[in-house]
Amino acid sequence: MSQFDAIVVGGGVNGLIAGTLLGRRGKNVCIIEKSNGFGGMASYSVDGGPTLAHSLYNLSPRALGDIGIDTQHPVLSGKPVSTVSLSEDGRHIVFKNDGVYWSDGTKHPESDAWSDLTRQLITYGDLLRQLAEAPPPGGQKAILSRGGLNEFLRLAKLGIGLKKLGKYEMRRFLQVVLSNVHDIVLDDLSEGPVAGMLAADAIWGTATGPRSPGTVFNLIYRLGHGGTITQPAGGMCALTDLMVEAAQKAGCLLMPDTEVSRILLDNDAVSGVETTDGRTIAAPNVLSSLAPKLTSRMTGPSAFDIETMRRVRNIRARGTTAKVNLRLKDSSALPSLSDELAHERLIYAPSVEYVEAAFNPAKYGQMSKALVIEAFKMQTADGASWLSTIVQYAPSDLEGGWTETAKEQLAEIAVETLSRALPGLGDQIAGKQVITPDKIESATGAPGGHWHHAEMSLDQLLTLRPTNGMSRYSMGPKGLFQCGAATHPGGDVMGLAGRNAALAALEAQP
Ligand SMILES: Cc1cc2nc3c(=O)[nH]c(=O)nc-3n(C[C@H](O)[C@H](O)[C@H](O)COP(=O)(O)OP(=O)(O)OC[C@H]3O[C@@H](n4cnc5c(N)ncnc54)[C@H](O)[C@@H]3O)c2cc1C
Repeated sequence: MSQFDAIVVGGGVNGLIAGTLLGRRGKNVCIIEKSNGFGGMASYSVDGGPTLAHSLYNLSPRALGDIGIDTQHPVLSGKPVSTVSLSEDGRHIVFKNDGVYWSDGTKHPESDAWSDLTRQLITYGDLLRQLAEAPPPGGQKAILSRGGLNEFLRLAKLGIGLKKLGKYEMRRFLQVVLSNVHDIVLDDLSEGPVAGMLAADAIWGTATGPRSPGTVFNLIYRLGHGGTITQPAGGMCALTDLMVEAAQKAGCLLMPDTEVSRILLDNDAVSGVETTDGRTIAAPNVLSSLAPKLTSRMTGPSAFDIETMRRVRNIRARGTTAKVNLRLKDSSALPSLSDELAHERLIYAPSVEYVEAAFNPAKYGQMSKALVIEAFKMQTADGASWLSTIVQYAPSDLEGGWTETAKEQLAEIAVETLSRALPGLGDQIAGKQVITPDKIESATGAPGGHWHHAEMSLDQLLTLRPTNGMSRYSMGPKGLFQCGAATHPGGDVMGLAGRNAALAALEAQP
């Protein structure tokens, strides 16, 4: 029987970062992954097509630094991409760092208002980033614990940061952070594609629409690392390969093609894991990057008190995001877009109301007839050209299930939606891949195929993430920790959940 200091269950971005950090701090670590490759959702693809995740906006330099990856590494030095809001009249709108432009290069009349609003949200995002880089505030108990001085200093720094905003901004931050993006955006911008783009950025991966409370928090969370969007050179797999290399350098044993079936307990403390092929691997610490419901299934419910199990069962994770990857006949430019714009981030979200209306059917388990879409034109390793699209809203609990017909229908709606702004797109398509939430769930284990493993909503954030009493990564028996997207601060290719969890495990058992 192998013996380790810690076992990490799941080799997605968070599992890799948690394991590597522990390895670099001298722990003997094994990272167990059920699929034949590492990277989880970030680098999951079907038949070598585009990966689920296709852009970086939240990747944490702090998490990278802690696992020894240089933020200047060539894989991470891709040029920032602009966002292009696709328009039916062919007058697309380009969002750059310095303002908003029509596709002919002239300045958009709402440029200044958009810049002012995003600048303000990015400032607030910096505060959320500070919150994201540590466990959520733990109150008096945490301050009195080992590491309590650090906790105190961190909270003091956050308080100073808030104060530094000035009275007006501090009040506004506290006013807006929990409100809905519909109201905040339309206070400053007129209804239309400029406002629609911000509404879309507030809802990716969530079961919310722009009128849902807390969507401003999601938008600010997304802007927490400055709002710049990039793509890793060589694609998302190049980034996750880099993380695998860092884990190996840190001495971690990587075990692909191995599925954990049980977390073993001895006298209310973790003692190791059992795999589906009957192996037992021993360790006094297990960090699970799976959602709490799956983790508790692996320990058995008797490891937790009744109230904890009730809370775990009630964690909401209703996936709403699918991928429709369109293989293009050739690599030529997309209709109605210059070659330059075709390589930027393309959004179809013509107004805030459009995004809200797209959400409505999904609330009732129905497919939206008009989707909110993010698309990137890219090439895969085999030289094929793709339009890789993320589509909202494709509910995981679709009425009638995700049959082949339903998948075909989703792909048709995605092409129809994009064709409104890119007429003739359908003629350029040579093949389609449709990856729906049920498929994402079966591939990665994420409940409902949810982007963040657990909904990012006001009742499941910060000290309530993934649920009350579990926000500081430890869970139930001694030595059991959560380290995946369901924990604070949430998912995205960011890595802070994994990093914070590893630090919590070190603090508990240095
Ligand atoms: C369609 C879609 C598009 C997205 N696009 C983006 C994007 O462009 N940019 C971005 O920043 N984020 C994006 N995300 C979100 C991002 O990919 C995830 O939030 C993040 O990758 C989650 O990482 P994780 O390590 O917490 O979990 P996961 O990546 O889900 O990793 C969990 C791992 O555990 C493994 N596992 C499961 N069960 C077991 C078991 N029993 N034993 C062993 N291993 C097991 C799984 O195979 C998986 O590898 C997207 C998500 C989706 C669904």
